[in-house]
Amino acid sequence: APADPLALRASGFAALGPGFYAAQAPTPLPAPYWVASSAHVARLLGLDVDTWRNDAALQLLSGNRMRADTPAIATVYSGHQFGVWAGQLGDGRALLLGESAQGLEVQLKGAGRTPYSRMGDGRAVLRSSIREFLCSEAMHGLGIATTRALCLTGSPAPVRRETLETAAVLTRVAPSFVRFGHFEHFYAQGLQKDRYESLRALADHVIARHYPECRAPAHTPAQTYAALLRAVSERTAALLAQWQAVGFCHGVMNTDNMSILGLTLDYGPFQFLDHFDPGHVCNHSDTAGRYAFHRQPAIAHWNLGCLAQALLPLLADEGQAVAALQSFQPTFTREFLRRMADKLGLGADAGAGAPDGNPDLAALVGQLLQLLAAQRVDYPIFWRRLSHAVASGDFEPVAALFAERSGWERWLLSYQEQLAQVDQAQAADLMLKTNPKFVLRNHLAEQVIRAAQQGDFTPLRTLQTLLENPFAEHPGHEAWADFPPDWAASITVSCSS
Ligand code: AMP
Ligand code: MG
Ligand code: MG
Repeated sequence: APADPLALRASGFAALGPGFYAAQAPTPLPAPYWVASSAHVARLLGLDVDTWRNDAALQLLSGNRMRADTPAIATVYSGHQFGVWAGQLGDGRALLLGESAQGLEVQLKGAGRTPYSRMGDGRAVLRSSIREFLCSEAMHGLGIATTRALCLTGSPAPVRRETLETAAVLTRVAPSFVRFGHFEHFYAQGLQKDRYESLRALADHVIARHYPECRAPAHTPAQTYAALLRAVSERTAALLAQWQAVGFCHGVMNTDNMSILGLTLDYGPFQFLDHFDPGHVCNHSDTAGRYAFHRQPAIAHWNLGCLAQALLPLLADEGQAVAALQSFQPTFTREFLRRMADKLGLGADAGAGAPDGNPDLAALVGQLLQLLAAQRVDYPIFWRRLSHAVASGDFEPVAALFAERSGWERWLLSYQEQLAQVDQAQAADLMLKTNPKFVLRNHLAEQVIRAAQQGDFTPLRTLQTLLENPFAEHPGHEAWADFPPDWAASITVSCSS
């Protein structure tokens, strides 16, 4: 077998130079085994889907064998955690192996300590790694920008969290793992010397590799960096619109968990909403509720403010930074309403559904969300039933979700008025492609984790298949699309992973 079954080369990030990372070999794990893998991601990396999972791949991706000529690296970053400057953080348990021929970076998460591990053990447990593996692929299935996961390997090695668990290594894939925190790090470092070469080199790397459109011939350098800030702001706003529309709560929106590419990054205590609760806090460690569901867009904007601050030395003045962030709010609102119009089937006809062309849309959406919140209606099931109702004309299964029906009936009248202006069959079709039947709810993750901890990976594979195509009906799998059981409310997820 070849030494490197993934045929990776040194990453473009590594070319930035030694000030940006530490070379770090993975720490081997005993008796590694395959837990899961994604055929989609294997194809993205140009791997032969049927044969790539050989022993050489297992050893490489559990951190047990490395090529000497492309050392793994841990990158350094800083960041704001829960609104407070935390100073240097860095890849405490992630190692960048290199880059594929397609320009995708491949990273191991949980392969041992690094110079940035601080108090941590450099490990990840099977439980949270399964959550991250499934959620990366679920987000992609939903059409939401995210880091991907090629595979997950496990090991019987014990790892101490609240209880004793076992180790796992996740192989993550993305065009770049650069975070807002990388920029904050080199800004803070530059402040001390009043020299910002590293900050500039990082910005130039990100622009050259990922935002080439920001570098226009007529631009001054400052205008190019301002264009980067604006582009990141708009991508982030569009991402947040998708999170809010689908009911995704990230849980730890620290600036070091914010992707410069606008990808969903670092799956920890995330949660898809069961019943619609705008104030929901999914992270047990977030006692102040800073990252409550409805605060996410404002937090993203705040995080972009940190990024803007870090870019100030490269910009002409503060006004340029402020101007670059101004597009956040309008982009978020436009994208959110566009997503909600699709969920309602009103986007089928661009005229009626387009947020600008339809002043009633915002009111319709606002009233609905209030109603769902007041009656604690199950969010995914509401949308899926509404989609079928538009297809069949029978709204009774939707009405049955409301304990108190008069508000629903009033809302339905104004909805049907708008629906009458679009083609019903097209609307239903759009809704069934927009409102997923299968969502990675906490209790589903919990069920497949419990089975996997007993050595049974069949439920994990089943759930993965459903989440890869969450809009398909998958007959025979109704139980995976049902209401959460009562015990779901007692699941606690924290930063401990
Ligand atoms: P997070 O809250 O997951 O975004 O992690 C914040 C920081 O803690 C990052 O620098 C991580 O690399 C680091 N970290 C989290 N868990 C561990 C661990 N088990 N070992 C080492 N570093 C960790
Ligand atoms: Mg993180
Ligand atoms: Mg994390």
